[in-house]
Amino acid sequence: MHPREYERHVRCEASARRLLLSYVWKGGKRFCPRCRGGKVYELSDDRLRCAACRYTFHDFSGRFLNVGGLSPRDWLRLVRLFELELTVSRMADQLGLAYNTVYRAVTVIRFSILANALDASQLLFGEVGRELGYDNGRMVMSRSGEPGGHVPVFGIIEKPGWTFLDLVPDMRVEHVVHFNMNFSLKVTRLGKIVYTDRFQHYDALMFCGGDDAWRYADILDRTPYLDTLPDGFWNFARTRLRRFSGVSARRFPLYLKELEFRYNHRNESILPILLTFLCSLVPKYE
Ligand SMILES: [Zn+2]
Repeated sequence: MHPREYERHVRCEASARRLLLSYVWKGGKRFCPRCRGGKVYELSDDRLRCAACRYTFHDFSGRFLNVGGLSPRDWLRLVRLFELELTVSRMADQLGLAYNTVYRAVTVIRFSILANALDASQLLFGEVGRELGYDNGRMVMSRSGEPGGHVPVFGIIEKPGWTFLDLVPDMRVEHVVHFNMNFSLKVTRLGKIVYTDRFQHYDALMFCGGDDAWRYADILDRTPYLDTLPDGFWNFARTRLRRFSGVSARRFPLYLKELEFRYNHRNESILPILLTFLCSLVPKYE
Protein backbone atom coordinates (compact mmCIF):
# COMPACT_ATOMS: atom_id res chain seq x y z
CA MET A 1 0.00 0.00 0.00
CA HIS A 2 1.32 3.40 -0.92
CA PRO A 3 1.87 5.65 2.15
CA ARG A 4 -0.40 8.26 0.61
CA GLU A 5 -3.20 5.72 0.25
CA TYR A 6 -2.80 4.81 3.91
CA GLU A 7 -2.92 8.51 4.93
CA ARG A 8 -6.09 8.96 2.93
CA HIS A 9 -7.86 6.02 4.61
CA VAL A 10 -6.74 6.73 8.15
CA ARG A 11 -8.28 10.20 8.11
CA CYS A 12 -11.82 9.17 9.09
CA GLU A 13 -13.71 6.14 10.42
CA ALA A 14 -15.86 5.68 7.32
CA SER A 15 -12.86 5.57 5.04
CA ALA A 16 -10.90 3.28 7.36
CA ARG A 17 -13.87 0.94 7.50
CA ARG A 18 -14.14 0.88 3.70
CA LEU A 19 -10.49 -0.09 3.44
CA LEU A 20 -10.86 -2.91 5.98
CA LEU A 21 -14.00 -4.14 4.21
CA SER A 22 -12.00 -4.46 0.99
CA TYR A 23 -9.68 -6.85 2.89
CA VAL A 24 -12.56 -8.73 4.53
CA TRP A 25 -14.46 -9.33 1.29
CA LYS A 26 -11.63 -9.75 -1.17
CA GLY A 27 -13.18 -9.90 -4.60
CA GLY A 28 -16.27 -8.13 -3.25
CA LYS A 29 -18.37 -11.23 -2.59
CA ARG A 30 -19.78 -11.80 0.88
CA PHE A 31 -20.10 -15.27 2.35
CA CYS A 32 -21.15 -16.87 5.63
CA PRO A 33 -18.24 -17.12 8.12
CA ARG A 34 -19.84 -20.22 9.65
CA CYS A 35 -20.73 -22.46 6.68
CA ARG A 36 -19.05 -20.45 3.89
CA GLY A 37 -22.35 -20.34 2.01
CA GLY A 38 -22.39 -17.61 -0.63
CA LYS A 39 -26.06 -16.62 -0.40
CA VAL A 40 -26.30 -13.79 2.12
CA TYR A 41 -29.18 -11.38 2.88
CA GLU A 42 -28.81 -7.91 4.27
CA LEU A 43 -30.90 -7.23 7.38
CA SER A 44 -31.28 -3.90 9.10
CA ASP A 45 -28.46 -2.40 11.27
CA ASP A 46 -25.69 -3.67 8.96
CA ARG A 47 -26.45 -7.24 9.93
CA LEU A 48 -26.29 -10.10 7.44
CA ARG A 49 -27.97 -13.50 7.36
CA CYS A 50 -26.88 -16.71 5.69
CA ALA A 51 -29.59 -18.27 3.54
CA ALA A 52 -28.21 -21.77 4.11
CA CYS A 53 -27.58 -22.00 7.87
CA ARG A 54 -29.55 -18.90 9.04
CA TYR A 55 -26.51 -17.57 10.92
CA THR A 56 -26.80 -13.83 11.58
CA PHE A 57 -23.55 -11.95 11.44
CA HIS A 58 -21.91 -8.68 10.48
CA ASP A 59 -19.02 -7.85 8.20
CA PHE A 60 -16.30 -8.40 10.80
CA SER A 61 -17.84 -11.46 12.54
CA GLY A 62 -15.45 -14.33 13.16
CA ARG A 63 -12.40 -12.33 12.08
CA PHE A 64 -9.35 -11.37 14.09
CA LEU A 65 -10.16 -7.66 13.98
CA ASN A 66 -13.46 -8.37 15.69
CA VAL A 67 -11.50 -9.30 18.83
CA GLY A 68 -10.18 -6.40 20.83
CA GLY A 69 -12.86 -3.78 20.32
CA LEU A 70 -10.89 -1.22 18.31
CA SER A 71 -12.53 1.03 15.74
CA PRO A 72 -11.43 0.60 12.10
CA ARG A 73 -9.39 3.79 12.28
CA ASP A 74 -7.63 2.74 15.49
CA TRP A 75 -6.85 -0.67 13.93
CA LEU A 76 -5.26 1.03 10.93
CA ARG A 77 -3.17 3.33 13.08
CA LEU A 78 -2.15 0.50 15.38
CA VAL A 79 -1.13 -1.84 12.56
CA ARG A 80 1.06 0.93 11.16
CA LEU A 81 2.82 1.36 14.54
CA PHE A 82 3.15 -2.43 14.86
CA GLU A 83 4.86 -2.45 11.47
CA LEU A 84 7.32 0.11 12.85
CA GLU A 85 7.98 -2.13 15.89
CA LEU A 86 7.00 0.37 18.56
CA THR A 87 6.62 -0.90 22.11
CA VAL A 88 3.12 -1.28 23.51
CA SER A 89 3.54 1.70 25.85
CA ARG A 90 4.72 3.98 23.04
CA MET A 91 1.81 2.83 20.87
CA ALA A 92 -0.61 3.52 23.72
CA ASP A 93 0.82 7.05 24.06
CA GLN A 94 0.60 7.80 20.37
CA LEU A 95 -2.87 6.35 19.94
CA GLY A 96 -4.30 7.78 23.15
CA LEU A 97 -5.52 4.31 24.13
CA ALA A 98 -5.15 2.36 27.37
CA TYR A 99 -2.09 0.11 27.67
CA ASN A 100 -4.23 -3.00 28.12
CA THR A 101 -6.31 -2.21 25.05
CA VAL A 102 -3.17 -1.91 22.93
CA TYR A 103 -1.62 -5.00 24.49
CA ARG A 104 -4.71 -7.03 23.59
CA ALA A 105 -4.77 -5.69 20.05
CA VAL A 106 -1.07 -6.44 19.52
CA THR A 107 -1.63 -9.96 20.85
CA VAL A 108 -4.47 -10.38 18.34
CA ILE A 109 -2.13 -9.31 15.52
CA ARG A 110 0.46 -11.84 16.70
CA PHE A 111 -2.15 -14.61 16.78
CA SER A 112 -3.22 -13.64 13.25
CA ILE A 113 0.40 -13.95 12.08
CA LEU A 114 0.65 -17.37 13.71
CA ALA A 115 -2.67 -18.41 12.16
CA ASN A 116 -1.32 -17.59 8.71
CA ALA A 117 1.99 -19.45 9.14
CA LEU A 118 2.70 -22.62 7.16
CA ASP A 119 2.41 -24.74 10.29
CA ALA A 120 -0.57 -22.84 11.75
CA SER A 121 -2.87 -25.75 12.53
CA GLN A 122 -0.09 -27.77 14.15
CA LEU A 123 0.67 -24.77 16.38
CA LEU A 124 -2.84 -23.52 17.18
CA PHE A 125 -4.62 -26.81 17.72
CA GLY A 126 -1.90 -28.65 19.59
CA GLU A 127 -0.14 -28.30 22.90
CA VAL A 128 1.46 -25.00 21.86
CA GLY A 129 -1.92 -23.42 21.18
CA ARG A 130 -3.23 -24.55 24.56
CA GLU A 131 -0.22 -23.02 26.31
CA LEU A 132 -0.70 -19.78 24.37
CA GLY A 133 -4.32 -19.65 25.47
CA TYR A 134 -5.84 -20.39 22.07
CA ASP A 135 -9.09 -22.26 22.53
CA ASN A 136 -10.80 -23.05 19.25
CA GLY A 137 -10.97 -19.45 18.09
CA ARG A 138 -10.97 -17.82 21.51
CA MET A 139 -7.81 -16.10 22.65
CA VAL A 140 -6.94 -15.76 26.32
CA MET A 141 -5.13 -12.47 26.71
CA SER A 142 -3.44 -12.73 30.08
CA ARG A 143 -0.89 -15.50 30.12
CA SER A 144 1.92 -15.05 32.55
CA GLY A 145 4.66 -17.15 34.04
CA GLU A 146 6.31 -20.29 32.83
CA PRO A 147 4.63 -22.75 30.49
CA GLY A 148 2.46 -25.14 32.49
CA GLY A 149 2.98 -28.14 30.24
CA HIS A 150 6.06 -28.92 28.25
CA VAL A 151 8.26 -26.23 26.71
CA PRO A 152 8.00 -26.29 22.90
CA VAL A 153 11.30 -26.72 21.06
CA PHE A 154 11.72 -25.09 17.64
CA GLY A 155 14.19 -26.04 14.94
CA ILE A 156 15.63 -23.19 12.90
CA ILE A 157 16.17 -23.73 9.20
CA GLU A 158 18.09 -20.94 7.50
CA LYS A 159 18.01 -20.74 3.73
CA PRO A 160 19.52 -17.93 1.67
CA GLY A 161 17.14 -15.03 2.24
CA TRP A 162 14.47 -16.79 4.25
CA THR A 163 13.95 -18.90 7.34
CA PHE A 164 11.54 -21.46 8.73
CA LEU A 165 11.02 -21.99 12.44
CA ASP A 166 9.72 -25.48 12.77
CA LEU A 167 8.07 -26.89 15.87
CA VAL A 168 10.02 -30.13 16.37
CA PRO A 169 7.51 -32.82 17.28
CA ASP A 170 8.29 -34.91 20.34
CA MET A 171 11.40 -32.88 21.13
CA ARG A 172 11.68 -32.00 24.82
CA VAL A 173 14.06 -29.90 26.87
CA GLU A 174 15.26 -33.14 28.54
CA HIS A 175 16.38 -34.38 25.13
CA VAL A 176 18.41 -31.23 24.56
CA VAL A 177 20.05 -31.77 27.95
CA HIS A 178 20.75 -35.38 26.95
CA PHE A 179 22.35 -34.42 23.60
CA ASN A 180 24.38 -31.77 25.38
CA MET A 181 25.68 -34.08 28.14
CA ASN A 182 26.23 -37.20 26.09
CA PHE A 183 26.86 -36.03 22.55
CA SER A 184 28.57 -32.67 23.17
CA LEU A 185 25.83 -30.62 21.55
CA LYS A 186 26.78 -27.03 22.32
CA VAL A 187 24.05 -25.14 24.22
CA THR A 188 24.06 -21.42 24.89
CA ARG A 189 21.67 -18.74 26.10
CA LEU A 190 20.34 -15.33 25.29
CA GLY A 191 18.49 -14.30 28.45
CA LYS A 192 15.75 -16.89 28.95
CA ILE A 193 16.20 -18.19 25.39
CA VAL A 194 18.25 -21.34 24.96
CA TYR A 195 19.71 -22.38 21.60
CA THR A 196 22.05 -25.07 20.39
CA ASP A 197 24.60 -25.82 17.72
CA ARG A 198 23.44 -27.56 14.52
CA PHE A 199 21.28 -30.58 15.16
CA GLN A 200 20.22 -33.03 12.43
CA HIS A 201 18.90 -30.90 9.56
CA TYR A 202 18.32 -27.88 11.82
CA ASP A 203 20.74 -25.00 12.12
CA ALA A 204 19.78 -24.78 15.78
CA LEU A 205 17.21 -25.93 18.30
CA MET A 206 15.64 -23.13 20.32
CA PHE A 207 13.27 -22.77 23.24
CA CYS A 208 12.43 -20.38 26.04
CA GLY A 209 11.77 -21.08 29.69
CA GLY A 210 12.49 -23.93 32.03
CA ASP A 211 15.17 -23.10 34.56
CA ASP A 212 17.67 -25.77 33.65
CA ALA A 213 20.85 -23.73 33.24
CA TRP A 214 22.74 -25.86 35.76
CA ARG A 215 22.00 -29.03 33.80
CA TYR A 216 23.95 -28.04 30.70
CA ALA A 217 27.57 -29.05 30.22
CA ASP A 218 29.67 -26.18 28.96
CA ILE A 219 31.30 -27.12 25.68
CA LEU A 220 33.92 -24.43 25.43
CA ASP A 221 35.70 -25.26 22.23
CA ARG A 222 32.74 -24.64 19.98
CA THR A 223 30.63 -21.68 18.88
CA PRO A 224 27.00 -22.45 18.00
CA TYR A 225 26.57 -22.42 14.25
CA LEU A 226 24.04 -19.54 14.32
CA ASP A 227 26.61 -17.27 16.01
CA THR A 228 29.12 -17.88 13.20
CA LEU A 229 26.80 -16.56 10.48
CA PRO A 230 27.55 -12.95 9.51
CA ASP A 231 23.93 -12.24 8.61
CA GLY A 232 20.64 -14.05 8.22
CA PHE A 233 17.71 -14.68 10.54
CA TRP A 234 19.64 -14.92 13.79
CA ASN A 235 21.37 -11.61 13.22
CA PHE A 236 17.99 -10.07 12.50
CA ALA A 237 16.29 -11.70 15.49
CA ARG A 238 18.95 -11.42 18.17
CA THR A 239 18.60 -7.69 18.88
CA ARG A 240 14.83 -7.96 18.78
CA LEU A 241 14.78 -10.95 21.13
CA ARG A 242 16.92 -9.08 23.68
CA ARG A 243 13.90 -6.86 24.19
CA PHE A 244 11.90 -10.01 24.84
CA SER A 245 13.68 -10.68 28.15
CA GLY A 246 10.86 -9.13 30.18
CA VAL A 247 8.10 -11.11 28.50
CA SER A 248 6.52 -14.32 29.69
CA ALA A 249 8.08 -17.51 28.35
CA ARG A 250 4.63 -18.80 27.53
CA ARG A 251 4.26 -16.23 24.78
CA PHE A 252 7.60 -17.10 23.17
CA PRO A 253 6.13 -19.03 20.18
CA LEU A 254 4.06 -15.93 19.25
CA TYR A 255 7.21 -13.76 19.19
CA LEU A 256 9.24 -16.35 17.33
CA LYS A 257 6.66 -16.71 14.56
CA GLU A 258 6.32 -12.92 14.38
CA LEU A 259 10.10 -12.68 13.84
CA GLU A 260 9.97 -15.41 11.20
CA PHE A 261 7.27 -13.40 9.42
CA ARG A 262 9.10 -10.09 9.74
CA TYR A 263 12.36 -11.62 8.52
CA ASN A 264 10.80 -13.34 5.52
CA HIS A 265 9.11 -10.06 4.50
CA ARG A 266 11.90 -7.71 5.54
CA ASN A 267 12.27 -6.22 2.05
CA GLU A 268 8.65 -5.19 1.59
CA SER A 269 5.95 -3.26 3.44
CA ILE A 270 4.15 -5.65 5.78
CA LEU A 271 1.20 -3.31 6.31
CA PRO A 272 -1.06 -4.81 3.58
CA ILE A 273 -0.12 -8.35 4.67
CA LEU A 274 -0.95 -7.57 8.29
CA LEU A 275 -4.31 -6.13 7.23
CA THR A 276 -5.02 -9.31 5.26
CA PHE A 277 -4.18 -11.44 8.32
CA LEU A 278 -6.21 -9.22 10.66
CA CYS A 279 -9.23 -9.46 8.36
CA SER A 280 -8.92 -13.24 7.96
CA LEU A 281 -11.23 -15.67 9.77
CA VAL A 282 -10.11 -16.92 13.17
CA PRO A 283 -9.48 -20.64 12.57
CA LYS A 284 -11.68 -23.16 14.35
CA TYR A 285 -12.10 -26.91 14.23
CA GLU A 286 -14.83 -27.82 11.83
ZN1 LIG B 1 -24.06 -20.17 6.84
